[in-house]
Amino acid sequence: MRRWSEVAERVAATTRTSEKTALLADYLGRLPATDLPTAAVFFSGRPFAQADQRATGLGWATIATAVTRASDAPADAIARAYDRSSDLGQAVAAVLSLRAAQPAGDVAPSLAEVAAVFATLETASGPAAKRALFEALLTRCDPLTAKYVVKVLTGELRIGLREGLLEAAVARAFGRPIDEVKTAGMLIGDIGETAVLAATDRLAEAAPTLFHPLKYMLASPAEDADEIIARLGPTVWVEDKYDGIRAQLHRRGSSARLYSRDLHDVSGQFPEIVRGAADLAWEGILDGEVLAYLDGNVLPFLALQTRLGRKDPSLTLQATVPVIFVAWDALVLNEAGPGSELQPLLTVPLRERRRRLEALQLPLADDGGVFALSHLMTVDSADGLERVFAEARARNNEGLMVKDPDSAYTPGRRGLGWLKMKKALATLDCVVVGVEVGHGKRHGVLSDYTFAVRDEATGGLVNIGKAYSGLTDAEIAEMTRWFESHTIAQFGRYRQVEPTVVVEVAFDVIMRSNRHRSGFALRFPRIVQLRTDKSAAEIDTLETVERLYLGLQQGAEHLVTAGARK
Ligand code: AMP
Repeated sequence: MRRWSEVAERVAATTRTSEKTALLADYLGRLPATDLPTAAVFFSGRPFAQADQRATGLGWATIATAVTRASDAPADAIARAYDRSSDLGQAVAAVLSLRAAQPAGDVAPSLAEVAAVFATLETASGPAAKRALFEALLTRCDPLTAKYVVKVLTGELRIGLREGLLEAAVARAFGRPIDEVKTAGMLIGDIGETAVLAATDRLAEAAPTLFHPLKYMLASPAEDADEIIARLGPTVWVEDKYDGIRAQLHRRGSSARLYSRDLHDVSGQFPEIVRGAADLAWEGILDGEVLAYLDGNVLPFLALQTRLGRKDPSLTLQATVPVIFVAWDALVLNEAGPGSELQPLLTVPLRERRRRLEALQLPLADDGGVFALSHLMTVDSADGLERVFAEARARNNEGLMVKDPDSAYTPGRRGLGWLKMKKALATLDCVVVGVEVGHGKRHGVLSDYTFAVRDEATGGLVNIGKAYSGLTDAEIAEMTRWFESHTIAQFGRYRQVEPTVVVEVAFDVIMRSNRHRSGFALRFPRIVQLRTDKSAAEIDTLETVERLYLGLQQGAEHLVTAGARK
């Protein structure tokens, strides 16, 4: 792990992407086959592969306690170090470098040993057991190694290494075409396994596997109808943008499983969908959204929320807030029934994927089944798109999804094949980095949130604003408890917290401002909702803020017109 950390340090030290790729390719190409998958997965900034269902469950507070104990440093040393760098890995290294005696090189953990500890952390129950395991690992790590162990663990590698660069390094290390590496990576969602296939010249064997979730295709935000038609047109497909929970359905025989946006198995929360998807005449993977649906009507997201996070919901809850699966895409299918070969459809145009999806004749909710198909319209002019958009907004719909019927399904990419056309006043997904107790009736609860977006150039978080929470009292109470146990440092009323809670923030205007590190400020920011379905890796970037800033300025006139027409 020491060698891996040195390579990571060198990758971080150069801004030249060609040099980053060369360094990594050289390192990966020389690794023993047994270490290759672990090294590659760690370079993706995760303790486990993306498609892996495991998580270590080690919170920042537990890491901080373990570091303090392993270093004999004062209890506030880690908080002060974190405040200097806003980087937990760096803070851990700074605190551990104060140890009177550093561990000898011969006890340094290997890559395999670190991976084994991560696996054990996942199965250990309770913070005390996890802390003890992690502390034992730290006592064997020199500061640099500990820095990177923590960065991998927390998913905050921040060495300026995008997934594309890692794939390029794998391609170069083993002399394979980059496109083949990318395609394999997309299909299996595991860069470690992809690296092994590249090393052994078996990239062509990569195929999606049932019950291994694929990354989701994402949509890019867009507001201007002319621009959308220019990009995706002349003819575009328009679907309602449903306000539910994105899910991927895998099914074979009597087994069906649902995976969430962060690729976790959430089947237990939606037993009626799992039951309703069993024993159908095809096997495969569908993409869509879980919605609350009763007597022919979609229920508001608030109703669906009562179903979230609850395994084995009571029969009463299932009856009052029933759920259905609205499908809009087919990613893998064997329509010829059990036993026939599964066909990946990712590179097949959307138009054909939709045809195959419709041909499945899913048992629809209105006929007693648990399925629906997304409502699809064809539009071939900017005027037409604006009309449909205005209609969607009049129905209180958040917006529209505009899709290119000729586009492929690109897992994990915010491609331009799908655009989300949202409300005129856009919202930003931000991560909460600090909280404070509120005033008045919010006295005693942590209700004021400071939030940040990601600066992609550095990988770091930059503050963009602060807002009173617009959440319900129950949510605020629950979040208060969460923030209390995930506080990294406290300065008077202000608590710096583990940056993992994602909130959707609405605002009136974006302004340039020196008040926050992002260089921007929001006027009248308000927290619309918690985005428990999103992780800090998925928040909006400074680039999006800049684009919105410019777009809102240029679009102001157009938006007024759109508003008047409504
Ligand atoms: P956002 O969450 O604002 O980034 O928007 C993207 C999300 O819109 C996706 O992850 C889906 O959960 C959701 N969505 C709703 N309707 C559709 C649709 N018809 N096609 C694709 N995604 C949709």
